Amino acid sequence: MRMIDIIEKKRDGHELTTEEIQFFIHGYTSGAIPDYQASALAMAIFFQDMTEKERADLTMAMVHSGATIDLSGIEGIKVDKHSTGGVGDTTTLILAPLVAAVGVPVAKMSGRGLGHTGGTIDKLESIAGFHVEMTNGQFIELVNKNKVAVIGQSENLTPADKKLYGLRDVTGTVNSIPLIASSIMCKKIAAGADAIVLDVKTGAGAFMKTEESAIELAHAMVKIGNNVGRQTIAVISDMSQPLGFAIGNALEVKEAIDTLRGQGPKDLTELVLTLGSQMVVLAKKADSMEEARKMLTVVIKNGQAIEKFKEFVSSQGGDASVVDHPEYLPQASYQIDVPAKVDGTVSEIIADEIGKAATMLGAGRATKEDVIDLAVGLVLHKKIGDAVKKGESLITIHSNREDVHDVMEKIYENIRISNHADVPKLIHTIMTV
Ligand code: URA
Ligand code: CA
Repeated sequence: MRMIDIIEKKRDGHELTTEEIQFFIHGYTSGAIPDYQASALAMAIFFQDMTEKERADLTMAMVHSGATIDLSGIEGIKVDKHSTGGVGDTTTLILAPLVAAVGVPVAKMSGRGLGHTGGTIDKLESIAGFHVEMTNGQFIELVNKNKVAVIGQSENLTPADKKLYGLRDVTGTVNSIPLIASSIMCKKIAAGADAIVLDVKTGAGAFMKTEESAIELAHAMVKIGNNVGRQTIAVISDMSQPLGFAIGNALEVKEAIDTLRGQGPKDLTELVLTLGSQMVVLAKKADSMEEARKMLTVVIKNGQAIEKFKEFVSSQGGDASVVDHPEYLPQASYQIDVPAKVDGTVSEIIADEIGKAATMLGAGRATKEDVIDLAVGLVLHKKIGDAVKKGESLITIHSNREDVHDVMEKIYENIRISNHADVPKLIHTIMTV
């Protein structure tokens, strides 16, 4: 087999065989196939697309390019949840203990954040003592005991994806549905998921800005999952405005605690119940979405969800007393309100730009090496559709620097107050095939 023939075949619009895709991934991972040939193929895929079969083959070839996690030692169906990423998205922190509280095993591998805000691990590390370093054996034992544990991303999963994603980034081939879908799915499968719930975001703060592109990506991933024997469903949800009120690591931990107690923001709570119900049904702990939703609502009300969070945190070395004493979380030195300049209705809160405002305070990373400030961030007091009076606080800035005029300016530029608002729908679509 020769790489040149594979490139020409795809360039001319033909379907590659399983063996050809494996040859490419294997050769590219080992270094036998050079970057210039891989980038030519990526560009050919960008223009010619891939069939469903090719997408499944590419995904599984990347899964087998490195180590995989064996979760067979954990009883039950392991359902993983993946979000395509957004601003102030605290759902994992809430979902993990919530679904564990109704018996769904959550063996979560998480990463650190790059860009707008921190990742799940950054957020959890704002709890004193919390750590994700453990052996695979300890991880599995912990999930069997508590139904929930979070471990750091293993370095040797899907090396083909790491290499290819880096190449795509500099060759104009990131924005290709088959390449994005296989890239996301191979990581979930390598991490041991039996079933997958995808939260595909759409809107200004999302990777997929339009609803059509989000639907296309969701469809591609659901197809791949189901074609490789992992039941997969996708929820397409709004990310035109930030999710919930809090943006920033410790601030989001507090928001997660509030939500697990049933006192969280309406949109965040609704998204968590929607995604959570899907997870419970895929794990076969309930027969219908209605039943699953009822189970989740019950454990929020009776305190089992927040108790599960405490157990999860203390099992991984964290100080669970933050649940009753949120003031033990890192606190910023300054809390500065951003007052509305006029009366009206909030009509726009541009998610990605508001996320950048939080990053300017130090809540997110611009490069992998950046150290983030866990205490800082933003707390919204208004969402789209809310009435506001001149002088009322739109957002509180939590900062460790006194002068925040740059952040304030950014916020004013990206919140619009008018006399009318179209409130964006939170859940756009739920896709099962
Ligand atoms: N996220 C990924 O993991 N891969 C892509 O290709 C794009 C976004
Ligand atoms: Ca939030």
